Amino acid sequence: MIRHESQLPVPSSAMVIFAHPDDAEFVTAGTAAVWAEQGCEVTYLAGTSGDKGTSDPDIPTETLIEMREQEQRNAAEILGVKHVEFLRYADATLVPDLDLRLAITRMIRKHKPEAVICQDPTSRFVAQEYIQHPDHIAMGEAALAAVFPSARDHLTFPQLIEEGYEPHKAKYIFLAGSNTPDVWVNTTHVFEKKLASLKAHVSQVGEFDPTELLRTWGRDTAAEARRSGFSTSWDMELAEGYKFFQLD
Ligand SMILES: [Zn+2]
Repeated sequence: MIRHESQLPVPSSAMVIFAHPDDAEFVTAGTAAVWAEQGCEVTYLAGTSGDKGTSDPDIPTETLIEMREQEQRNAAEILGVKHVEFLRYADATLVPDLDLRLAITRMIRKHKPEAVICQDPTSRFVAQEYIQHPDHIAMGEAALAAVFPSARDHLTFPQLIEEGYEPHKAKYIFLAGSNTPDVWVNTTHVFEKKLASLKAHVSQVGEFDPTELLRTWGRDTAAEARRSGFSTSWDMELAEGYKFFQLD
């Protein structure tokens, strides 16, 4: 059991699975940057391309998809994320069905990540201020089902074997946006990268400057890590928190 930041592994490879372009930049980009700096091969997997993410009636859907995928690639480059994959399901209609589970399983078997970060599907409400987007819940639910047991078992989705994708077991699972986090990653020194990666989503951020928002979240999260005894150092000024599992 991991109780202190000194025990937290840096995986050799990781897949960050999320519903929309920009989700990862809000909550997990610091971790991706920290791991990438230490040689971890990070892959992004987006369930949708954010095709409902505009209030401008003059932007055609196809154009919005192209814009948002490019913004996501730009953000990934800033963070040192090597690969970006899009499943291109329709935004705001994700459901955790077998079709989505198969698509995620295919990507896990393709990239064989040692660690998977995904959205916590049990995180329905956040404080008094946020009702979790249904796509986040759906993507997290399908991602966990893909990790265990679908990616592991060769008899599940046998068509994947025919496509050349052999079974794979991810070892570490990190649930982002959890209401019960139990590990934290020190993201203090990559703050500028995280900020720049979020700003790369130009169509979403617009004129809004997210600096204070990200800094406040990071500080509050680091304070949580200290309160729990996970971090005993004030070097952890900013952090990202996760619910963690180590599978055998
Ligand atoms: Zn989202």
